[in-house]
Amino acid sequence: MGRSTLQPIQPQVDLRLARRWLDFCVQEHWRRCQGSKKRVIDLMVIDCENRVIVPLPARGNYVTLSYVWGNHPEQERSSLQESSLPVPLPQTIEDAITVTKGLGYNYLWVDKYCIDQRKEDFHTKLRQMDVIYENSVLTIIAAAGSHSSYGLAGISKIRKSCSTQRLKSLPFLVADELRKSVWASRAWTFQEGLLSTRRLIFTEKQMYFECQGLYCFE
Ligand SMILES: [Zn+2]
Repeated sequence: MGRSTLQPIQPQVDLRLARRWLDFCVQEHWRRCQGSKKRVIDLMVIDCENRVIVPLPARGNYVTLSYVWGNHPEQERSSLQESSLPVPLPQTIEDAITVTKGLGYNYLWVDKYCIDQRKEDFHTKLRQMDVIYENSVLTIIAAAGSHSSYGLAGISKIRKSCSTQRLKSLPFLVADELRKSVWASRAWTFQEGLLSTRRLIFTEKQMYFECQGLYCFE
């Protein structure tokens, strides 16, 4: 589905394009890309429309985020308002909410906000992390930057429009760009990103989609 004629990369991502890739996969690859059928008990997710943390409704689909928290300061969440999100949110999380909505979904799972770090829930959810990623409809991979205030290139972070730097449709070039990223240098983030059957990857230069049967780029 990649276009054969090279066009300059636009400063901002067209999320309708990513949605077309994802919808195609959901409709056509239902067997190989549907992911795991294991259940995660009491999964909490961000309700992107209402900006609160809620239990995932039965049969609700959700998106996951793989990113590097980095040196962004910890934000205290009031114990009285456990369902609320901090204001302001780190930019990468804010952008992931924009992407989730742009893809036509409403629930987003982000480890920092969807695991209660003070309870035994923390260890239980850590053990279930692989299934949480496997079950998600797609994982957004924030491959650029080294901290959670960096944002996603092409969403809040304006990219340089440049046709000459545009990468070709060769997966190994993407793999090479990914390998050099801080995201990939953290063993765990690299692993979790590969657990989902569908991945939407934001590098500094371009957005890519890959699933078990398709590879697309802007
Ligand atoms: Zn697919």
